[in-house]
This record gives sequence, C-alpha cells and structure tokens, in this order.
Amino acid sequence: MPSYFFEGNHLHKIKAGQKFALFLDFDGTLVPIQKDPAKCFLSEKVKEQLRLITRSKYCYLSILSGRSLSDIRKRVGIRTIYYGGNHGLDISGPGVRYTHPKALKAESIIKGVKQQLKKEIKGIGGAWLEDKKFTLSLHFRSVKKEGIPFVKNIFDKTVAEFLEKKSLAEIKGKKVLELVPEVSWDKGTAVLWILQRLKDNSLSIYIGDDQTDETAFKALSKRGITIRIGSSKRTFADYYLKGHWEVSQLLKQIQKVTNN
Ligand SMILES: [Mg+2]
Repeated sequence: MPSYFFEGNHLHKIKAGQKFALFLDFDGTLVPIQKDPAKCFLSEKVKEQLRLITRSKYCYLSILSGRSLSDIRKRVGIRTIYYGGNHGLDISGPGVRYTHPKALKAESIIKGVKQQLKKEIKGIGGAWLEDKKFTLSLHFRSVKKEGIPFVKNIFDKTVAEFLEKKSLAEIKGKKVLELVPEVSWDKGTAVLWILQRLKDNSLSIYIGDDQTDETAFKALSKRGITIRIGSSKRTFADYYLKGHWEVSQLLKQIQKVTNN
C-alpha cells in the first residue's frame, strides 16, 4: 500500500549536491484529463516550475507520455527536457534520439488499421481516433454509456488478427483503447534506457497516474521514489498524491531541493 506523499519528508533521500532524474507523465499528472486531449495545456505556473527545475545542474527532467513525440514536445515546449512519446518508444532529448525499430516497422500496419477503424466507427457519436504515428488510440470518453460495449467490440474485432499475429498489442487506458507495436518496451524500459544514457548515478523520481506508469514504478522500485496520482491499492508506487492538483506543490518541494 502506498503512503500519502505529504505525510513526512520523503525527499530527504536527495542529499545536497546529489544528481537526480525526475520523470513525469503528462495527462492526469501535469494537466487534468480532458474529454478532448487536444485541449490539454500546461498551466503557466507548472511550466515555470518545470523551467526552474531544468535550470538546476542537479536535475535531469524527462516527460513520458502516450502522446506522439511531436505532440508532447510542442505541448510542453521546453528544449532541455528529455521527451518520450508513444509510451517511450520514441525518445528525444539533449544529445539523444531513439525510435524503437519495432515501432518503425509497425507504422504502416497501424496506418491500415486506422483506415479500417475510421470506417467502422463512423456515425458513433463521441468515438474518435487519435493517430500518433507509431500508436493509435480509440477514444470513447464522450460515447453514451450504452454505446461503449459496441465501440469496444468494433475495436476488438478489427485488431484481432494483428494481436493474433503478434504484430500489434493493445493497451487499455482511461476511456481509451490503444493499439501499439507488440514489443517488450514500455515506460519502465524507457526510463531505464534514459537513466543509462545520463551516466550519472542519479536518484530517480517518477510521477504518473495511469496503468502505463505502473511499468515505470516497477522498474524503479527500490531504486527511486515513485508516486502515483490518485490512491490505488494495486500499485507498485511507494507513495500517492490525492490528485494532479497536488503535483505543483510537489514540484515546488523538488525545486527547493534542487536549489540547495
Ligand atoms: Mg497519465
């Protein structure tokens, strides 16, 4: 069971002068989840906090998201950050650029599935596709309750052959079904990959709110500070925050530590 982060000083593990790597999820962590992900924007306050943190020579900042790399980079807009798009399949940052070969391979298959799904969901109010180049999301947050099983069914039927052939895999998120390349690579692997590139023995902090972040909590267990947004009993995270609205307070604490 995770404990509430603000009960006690859990940043004491960061000693003065110690380098650390801060990993953040975007939707549901830095910004509240919206019906339309295109309408999620970073507040000026949080952006300024991130900017201040990146100025510290002790902190490496990474943002990992299910969004495409170009989308997440544009939405945050700070150049010195490491970004991992498509759940870490597509990474770029200072001196670093990597796209997983299986993601490149899956690109054309995903394009085909998109065309097919587009036809199938036509006419279903509230269902829409988000093309993220190497992954594809079917959003149903705005679909009427009784229509949801129908949408799920369409998705399952359309993607079945690719799941069977193991060329693609499925991720179930919050009111979204996602098609991704079948690959043993996730946010957790991406975090370890970035840490290896940093070559500093830095302490890690990871903050996320969703199922995909659990892979990172697991990868960092015993070697970092992991924080899940929203209390969940079934989590690998050490700590939790009550909601994304508490993240800013946490960033402020981190910022203080980095300026020591
Ligand atoms: Mg999230």
